[in-house]
Amino acid sequence: MVQNARSDKAGIFYCVMVMFLLLLQDSHIASAEAEDRYQLARKEMIDAIEADVSLTSGLIDKTRFDPRVMEAMSKVPRHAFVPPEKTEYAYENRPLSIGFGQTISQPYIVALMTDLLDLRPDAAVLEIGTGSGYQAAVLSGLVKAVYTIEIIEALGVAAERRLKRLRYENVRTRISDGYYGWPEQAPFDGIIVTAAVGHIPPPLIRQLKAGGRMVIPVGSPFLIQHLTLVEKDRNGEVRTRQLLPVRFVPLTGGHP
Ligand code: SAH
Repeated sequence: MVQNARSDKAGIFYCVMVMFLLLLQDSHIASAEAEDRYQLARKEMIDAIEADVSLTSGLIDKTRFDPRVMEAMSKVPRHAFVPPEKTEYAYENRPLSIGFGQTISQPYIVALMTDLLDLRPDAAVLEIGTGSGYQAAVLSGLVKAVYTIEIIEALGVAAERRLKRLRYENVRTRISDGYYGWPEQAPFDGIIVTAAVGHIPPPLIRQLKAGGRMVIPVGSPFLIQHLTLVEKDRNGEVRTRQLLPVRFVPLTGGHP
């Protein structure tokens, strides 16, 4: 009797274990399939960016982006930076809403702005407008250090957690008004502003290293802005060049 009860228990235990292992295997297969799907979607996203580069080459004065930038774009899991109900659209070449009235930029624009910064591996770069953290993740693979500022606390905190979870360890986040930059970490080799502003913030020009570059959408909020490249030469002289028309959410905060 005792013997039988024992073997019954062993039988149940065995069945439960087999079911558990089968479930585990299923979920592994499912997640491997999802990974394959995302990899394919990323490849299609890269093709779409390249097609946009050809279409806009006259405006941006290039026929291709730096292969390092394209490699970074092909590695970052964009689906992990959009709200769960939008993962199926994550790799489409268009901006997506991330809540709080904000958007994650279109992949082509992320690649273009990153390319324009012309960053070296030992560079320190400042981003204004962390949003989802996607742009910061793309930069992370290309430079030594990324500093990113977000004004909406809930977005900044969520992005910080996401970047930590995905192990982008050279990214530092901060909640503040990015108009004033991050003076304690300045100067920066590159500054990227991912919200529209009517003028180039003087504090950001000051925090740009001689020889550094800034990319910023300048123009009326809610209307069309111009993506503008700001270059500070070795003597500290600043030169600006307007590239193509873009539309970003406005830089908020109490700036002049
Ligand atoms: N780079 C982001 C998308 C940027 S959307 C990404 O990859 O997802 C623009 C972001 O700028 C928004 O999250 C918005 O809240 C933020 N923002 C607006 N004004 C700001 C300011 N003054 N300082 C810092 N961030 C600001």
